[in-house]
Amino acid sequence: MHTSALVLFSGGQDSTTCLAYALDRYERVETIAFDYGQRHRIELDARLQVLGALKQTFPQWASKLGEDHLLDLAVLGAVSETSLTRDTAFKMEANGLPNTFVPGRNLLFLTLAAAVAYRRGLQVMVTGVCETDFSGYPDCRDDTIKAMQLALSLGMDKRYLIETPLMWIDKAATWQLAHDLGEKSGRQEGGLALVNLILEHTHTCYLGDRSNRHPWGYGCGDCPACQLRARGYDAFRAGNLG
Ligand code: ZN
Repeated sequence: MHTSALVLFSGGQDSTTCLAYALDRYERVETIAFDYGQRHRIELDARLQVLGALKQTFPQWASKLGEDHLLDLAVLGAVSETSLTRDTAFKMEANGLPNTFVPGRNLLFLTLAAAVAYRRGLQVMVTGVCETDFSGYPDCRDDTIKAMQLALSLGMDKRYLIETPLMWIDKAATWQLAHDLGEKSGRQEGGLALVNLILEHTHTCYLGDRSNRHPWGYGCGDCPACQLRARGYDAFRAGNLG
């Protein structure tokens, strides 16, 4: 019986939904993120805002939320040339991957998360990776995650479970999942409350724009991340779930 989890929590829509998923299922939940020289520290600020808002809005979850871990991973910025860490424009590369791809990033995240989980006695890791997403990052695919679960379990001689609640659903269904988890929380109008919290506090925009507020949240509205979020929110509101 699993009772505790470590959530890879970046402060975006997906990882916030994963955090709600873990708070719904487990008695003790801790969070982890990595500072690797993201172009916009807004992402790291957003996660503290989300944590604060979650505790305030959902008192029944606040008591389960434990330590938050932020690991310095500056070395990742030093070894990768991507538009997430350098000031270059977004484009698709010849291999079909966007230039936001940081090779091995998610493998490194999971390995470090497992090390923290080991030390903290946490049994499950929850991550918001998704194969349905536009980006197609190979280190977010289901096979990669299953291989990591096995490698980490063997390499640390501890039975890890890596949960990926968003793996096979699209952005519209991710909004719906957040709504359903909020409803289950026991808070009155909890579904609407969690959707509104995600709209207001999570950050998605690649350009770090927090000045333009749209129905789907803050962002430039033009970058691939904003467009994906906007399309998903519209489909959720229209009831078209994938
Ligand atoms: Zn944007």
